[in-house]
Amino acid sequence: MVYGEKPDISREKSAELYEKAKKCFPGGVNSPVRAFKSVYGTPLFIEKGDGCRLWDADGNEFIDFCCSWGPLILGHNHPKVREKVTEEMQKGMSFGAPTALETELAELILKNNRFIEKIRFTSSGTEAVMSAIRLARGATKRDKIIKFEGCYHGHSDSLLVKAGSGLVTFGETSSAGIPKSFAEETIVVSLNDEEALKAAFNQFKDQIACVIIEPVPANNGLLLQSKAYLQFLREICTQNGALLIFDEVISGFRVSFEGAAGYYDIQPDIITYGKIIGGGLPVGAYGASAQLMANISPEGGVYQAGTLSGNPVAMAAGIAQLSELAKSGFYKELNTKTEEFTNAIQRYATSKNYAFKVFQIASIFWFAFTDADAIQTAEAIDPASMEQFKLMHRELLNRGIYLGPSGYEVGFVSVAHSKIDLEKAKRAIFECLDIVF
Ligand code: PLP
Repeated sequence: MVYGEKPDISREKSAELYEKAKKCFPGGVNSPVRAFKSVYGTPLFIEKGDGCRLWDADGNEFIDFCCSWGPLILGHNHPKVREKVTEEMQKGMSFGAPTALETELAELILKNNRFIEKIRFTSSGTEAVMSAIRLARGATKRDKIIKFEGCYHGHSDSLLVKAGSGLVTFGETSSAGIPKSFAEETIVVSLNDEEALKAAFNQFKDQIACVIIEPVPANNGLLLQSKAYLQFLREICTQNGALLIFDEVISGFRVSFEGAAGYYDIQPDIITYGKIIGGGLPVGAYGASAQLMANISPEGGVYQAGTLSGNPVAMAAGIAQLSELAKSGFYKELNTKTEEFTNAIQRYATSKNYAFKVFQIASIFWFAFTDADAIQTAEAIDPASMEQFKLMHRELLNRGIYLGPSGYEVGFVSVAHSKIDLEKAKRAIFECLDIVF
């Protein structure tokens, strides 16, 4: 093993907390990737976040590029979000009845999004996607769905098939506990392969309810697809009477206010949201045309509900965050800053002839240890490259830079990352690349 020049950060308190947590939770965590299984050391227990910075229980300070896995596009503890949430909390936490806040958030979204006419809030991305699939099945009266290898759509049964993210990190392509008969309703094809998709539609003629894709696949590395391919998906779905679902839990409000639908200007039938929409609190959503959404209970026969759906405190966080995003120039500034950051890293790696690529779209980036100019399928990632990420991750932590603890995960830049922060991060990344290669 190659060691870097800096001593490892202290993890004594985190290690102590982890021992306690292991007695309470399977693997000591409440979501698998947090367990640091594919990088060095025990998980860091976070004490607080502010702006682009995180502090752990041992007092280590980091510039954070994980941003709670995407929701924090304004950074940690943004004053406007904090103030709005604090104000709403004074009035009570949950009523299980309609509030004006739900409509306010919905109006803010619908007024700035050409691709959906009605929306329904849930409490997580998983619920949103699960409900979107049910809507597609209910509306088409068909059972089978098509998904893509490496795309992750949350942990509901029919979607946990060849699903990237934590599942790749743990070397599994599916999960125990899913009846074979459920998985049989899910057809998995490779990304960026038109012929495979045509073959699936031919084989299961008139049986496909929907095709679901992350239009910006960001759970198994960043497998950017061409606009032409996404357009092909639109066309083949229309030709076959299947619905096209864009799972925009990551890309929604990230690549533009209108997400990837707006970025590529492609009209899907259903769009799912999560992460950014809740301003750091648990919110998911799905939206479609008014006609399609009329299938949802109590208007139609597709059932979907939630005790905490549309929770007023979570809605307040969403309103505060999305109001900032709706301001003119928001995305241009953030995206330009990110591009300058990732371009500089790429220039450095290229100048040193390192087999390293930074793939980037808007404020999402992914470090890939490869010579390839593009990686568009899950199969194109060399699992051996994860050893290089592992070393990079450790050396970045030693230099105060926090990335998600898996080489399959993407990084995020927020408005709270100043040019000075990004400059500091860049220098640390250069040093780490010199150690890895
Ligand atoms: N869909 C996508 C594209 C995601 O990235 C995720 C989570 O990372 C989900 C769905 C599930 O969302 P949640 O973790 O909020 O249940």
